[in-house]
Amino acid sequence: MAKAFYVDEEECIGCGACVDCSPDVFHLNDDNIAEITNADGASEEEIQDAIESCPTECIHWEDEG
Ligand code: SF4
Repeated sequence: MAKAFYVDEEECIGCGACVDCSPDVFHLNDDNIAEITNADGASEEEIQDAIESCPTECIHWEDEG
């Protein structure tokens, strides 16, 4: 299982980059905010790619605060 991670909804601008990276993990909700639909839907490497693709750096690993 991948490490736990979360989206800081206050910082998300709904750009969809994380969804493009990992469509099995992220989706945009009705408010155009990224949500995690399946935290186990991608490897840690793919999640890291999504984290690095986020322009507002609002996806975080839990253990990195
Ligand atoms: Fe939101 Fe970041 Fe995903 Fe863009 S990449 S939708 S800002 S969480």
